[in-house]
Amino acid sequence: MIPYGKQDINQDDIDAVVNVLKSDFLTQGPQVPLFEETIADYCGVEYGVAVNSATSALHIACLALGLGEKDWLWTSPNTFVASANCGLYCGAQVDFVDIDPLTYNMCTLALEQKLIQAKQENKLPKIVIPVHFAGQSCDMQRIHQLGQEFGFKIIEDAAHAIGGQYLGHPVGGCQYSDITVFSFHPVKIITTAEGGLAATNQSDLANKMQLLRSHGITRDPKLMTKDSEGGWYYQQIDLGFNYRMTELQAALGVSQMQRLDEFVIKRHALLERYTELLKELPVITPKQFEDCYSALHLYPIQLELQRIDKSHAQVFDELRQNGIGVNVHYIPVHLQPYYQKMGFKEGDFPNAELYYSRAISIPLFHGMTFEQQDEVVDTLKKVLR
Ligand SMILES: *Cc1c(COP(=O)(O)O)cnc(C)c1O
Repeated sequence: MIPYGKQDINQDDIDAVVNVLKSDFLTQGPQVPLFEETIADYCGVEYGVAVNSATSALHIACLALGLGEKDWLWTSPNTFVASANCGLYCGAQVDFVDIDPLTYNMCTLALEQKLIQAKQENKLPKIVIPVHFAGQSCDMQRIHQLGQEFGFKIIEDAAHAIGGQYLGHPVGGCQYSDITVFSFHPVKIITTAEGGLAATNQSDLANKMQLLRSHGITRDPKLMTKDSEGGWYYQQIDLGFNYRMTELQAALGVSQMQRLDEFVIKRHALLERYTELLKELPVITPKQFEDCYSALHLYPIQLELQRIDKSHAQVFDELRQNGIGVNVHYIPVHLQPYYQKMGFKEGDFPNAELYYSRAISIPLFHGMTFEQQDEVVDTLKKVLR
């Protein structure tokens, strides 16, 4: 089976992890801050707070921005459930903004209209989480403008997008947002096995997230409510979690970062071949936009079902049966039973639903050979004929 995504591990990665195993620190040693610095340098951002997953990063990002009960968080329905769940963790209410049918990202026109209405109803969101779907940035300039106008904070869900650029700058620089969150799950662009990071230019947010990732405990006398009682002393000054990243993960991440650009360049080579090879097929290929350089986490095609005499599920199953490890990104979050219980229903976000009804992610990963890619295309041709 050719998988839809796969990590790339070389001997340097293995050596980096083994070196940590032979060292004194398995958690909270030098590798975690080194990894944070490596990402911050790459992205051109002040602070990086490494954690054990992007889900954790989203959670503490929301808390750092003060999200709580009675607040609203808005995100895209075309995303992994974690982009929305982080709002529920904080006791807030979640709503969605439909996608643009061309970019598959949050539609800024729909966002503006929804904001105007929410203002009248006194239900403006505290946080909006645009998701850089498949690694291509959202229209952050416009979202940032709307944030200024309507007074919401912005967390970029860049789980797909490390190594990508927006307006010539690396995604993660937070020029148009408060916090950017990355994921290092093995299917993503670089991996630490499990892992995530929250980037920000605001020191107060970075401090708060550092506190929250480790139980709300501090050893910094400046943050304590009274003088230290001795060398052992620490204080819990907030309710935090154990969301720490390990040294093993961070060392793997530092090593992977050396090849990030190479990974994304290879993905672009595969993209260009796919776009050419799929030209005559009844599928819509993902458009690349001038203002973006996508990290290309995914290569999602849409089936032109009116030109194919098979259903979405039939095409999917036949590809799998023929050794092509396709997937679907994403089942719109509002159609998940847990969200439907909150009142969301089919028809609420028609662009995301239409997209889902015909989307298939075909294999794209750094180690993929052109022969494997040809096999994917040939199989697709056979199945769609
Ligand atoms: C993978 C992913 C997450 C969650 O990442 P984890 O590191 O697995 O917690 C969040 N948002 C999006 C868009 C993702 O693809």
